[in-house]
Amino acid sequence: MGSSSIGSLRERVRGPVVTADSEGYDEARKVYNAMIDRRPAAVVQCAHAGDVMATVDFARENELDLAVRGGGHSVPGFGTCDDGVVADLSGMRGVRVDPRRRTVRVEGGATWGDFNAATHAFGLATTGGIVSTTGVGGLTLGGGIGYLARGLGLSCDNLISADVVTADGTLLVASEDEHDDLFWALRGGGGNFGAVTSFEFRLSPVEDVYGGPLVYELEDAGTVLRSFSELISDAPEQLGGFPAFQIAPPLPFIPENRHGDTFILIVACWAGPMDEGERAVQRFRDIAPVVAEHVGPMPYPALNSAFDALVPPGLQHYWKANFVTELSDAAISAHLEHGPRVPAVNSTVHIYPINGACHRVAPEDTAFAYRDATFATVIAGMWPDPADNEANTAWVRDYYRATAPHSEEGGYVNFMAEDDQDRIRANYRGNYERLVEVKRTYDPGNLFHVNQNITP
Ligand code: FAD
Repeated sequence: MGSSSIGSLRERVRGPVVTADSEGYDEARKVYNAMIDRRPAAVVQCAHAGDVMATVDFARENELDLAVRGGGHSVPGFGTCDDGVVADLSGMRGVRVDPRRRTVRVEGGATWGDFNAATHAFGLATTGGIVSTTGVGGLTLGGGIGYLARGLGLSCDNLISADVVTADGTLLVASEDEHDDLFWALRGGGGNFGAVTSFEFRLSPVEDVYGGPLVYELEDAGTVLRSFSELISDAPEQLGGFPAFQIAPPLPFIPENRHGDTFILIVACWAGPMDEGERAVQRFRDIAPVVAEHVGPMPYPALNSAFDALVPPGLQHYWKANFVTELSDAAISAHLEHGPRVPAVNSTVHIYPINGACHRVAPEDTAFAYRDATFATVIAGMWPDPADNEANTAWVRDYYRATAPHSEEGGYVNFMAEDDQDRIRANYRGNYERLVEVKRTYDPGNLFHVNQNITP
């Protein structure tokens, strides 16, 4: 791309346009997964919706690849590209709460930390990710699973409207009343349909939660998985949380002589009345002897950022995912074989329950199709040293191969790797053809293709 066209792009936008010869280029091209090392021709650090519109126009007119970046957490690195243009929304992170209507308007580059800090001030929240540095944008567009999902549904189930810059560079409002086909596709269809400059969500009363991690011996892992699965099938919907295989980090609540040992955890989150929290979490304590725990009342944003330090930016990432309808004995056996082999302290396997309110939305009501799945499993390989790439990706692949026969064909798009593109149709089941129709309407040239792509 010539310097004159970059010059014309700079004239069209207010935010900085960072190119290979700019100071800060290496910082600007970086995404969360350090395995991704792409060199875009330009990173437009968008200041407002107008910059996003101009960037989309510029990419289309110059036939360049376009990547849209929200929080930058995509494991396959969909927030950047080689040689093309990045619309980086990470400077657009304003959050405005309307406490009377119990709604919030949040810009397309905000993180869940930005979101929760603003809504918590009013005693309100909605389902978001379990780590505060993840972007609201990518997470919501793929569905959105978190501590509050059993009670409040997926993040996308709480979406009221979105301002979307579509492939022709126009900004549309998508809601139940306007461009309802686009609104349907945005709730699970990922970044395929445009760049969302702002989201409007419904909020619910959530102030403090009662929760935190409970740590059990590996020899009890089978009991923990079986009991969790039974218990969560009909537990009150204010009870969230998930089992996880995890190497113990050197945290003060874990006995020092056990640091570095591998355990199975349940991370609990009770979002109901505080005086019922102790009783709710006791169900988990009764499953098996607890080696260590760090459970109690805390503000919801505190639980939401409790694991941030374990997953700093700059790790290597390779992930695989599946939906699970029933955690069968065969599935549990596969977990018992591979979970204890978790190779790095940052790596983990989480088995997120997505029943309760998530099941009350029909599969065809939003693009997120797996409304009868009970769990979304993620095998999340995360480690610091590129020299360990082979061993860690092998662990993820072997684990996935062992659990896949006991899982659904599809998995959650937001937990998938780049080499999972052949599973996209399965991820959307009967909704896939309708997604293709919406794609043909709003992005027939597939300008937005740096994602788990639905081809027009
Ligand atoms: P980005 O890399 O910026 O974007 C990811 C995709 O979304 C790209 O295709 C991008 O183009 C698109 N996109 C982002 N913002 C916009 C926008 N404003 N408009 C249009 N397209 C956009 N997922 C869960 O559901 N629950 C969790 O608890 C959870 N925890 C996670 C924890 C970590 C540490 C990580 C790395 C990921 C986690 N995820 C979780 C997965 C997460 O949902 C996906 O990685 C998601 O894609 C991240 O969104 P982002 O905006 O941060 O990423």
